[in-house]
Amino acid sequence: MHARLRQFVNAMTALADTGADEARIIREGGALLRALVSQDGWLPAECAQPDPQYYRQYLLYLDPAKRFSVLSFVWGPGQSTPVHNHTVWGLIGMLRGAELNQAFHQGVEGRLERSGPPQRLEPGMVTAVSPMLGDIHQVENAYDDRVSIGIHVYGADIGAVERAVFTADGEMKPFRSGYANA
Ligand code: FE
Repeated sequence: MHARLRQFVNAMTALADTGADEARIIREGGALLRALVSQDGWLPAECAQPDPQYYRQYLLYLDPAKRFSVLSFVWGPGQSTPVHNHTVWGLIGMLRGAELNQAFHQGVEGRLERSGPPQRLEPGMVTAVSPMLGDIHQVENAYDDRVSIGIHVYGADIGAVERAVFTADGEMKPFRSGYANA
């Protein structure tokens, strides 16, 4: 593991060891992630490979107690996620390129409504999701001619979490993301 990623993992582990609540993890873990994505050059090439058809998520680190996981999200040109939730806190940091993050909430009769305009994340920027902050979103590569890469941290072994994707009607379908490399 590259020293920069190791340093981040050690600091996140120390934060988790304090028993920090979600608000503190979002604040202090967010600052750690901002420091990590403020500089490129540490992500292994095998965890930066796009797929021609779908976005990919690679597991970079899983806390042995599964208190958090660290992933690289690799967006091919124009690729996007379905609308989905997480059920745990998540920190989203931009490393390369840019992504558009559109938040949703469930309105009348459970139908999905956009929560304002999409947020554009540029390298070095960090945002957060959680059931308390707003947990439903759709993310897409802001570019249709180049790869973008985000570094995401979640409060669980996110690839194994039972969560949901949403149709426009707000209908939930079971979703478990897995990992491209595990
Ligand atoms: Fe997400």
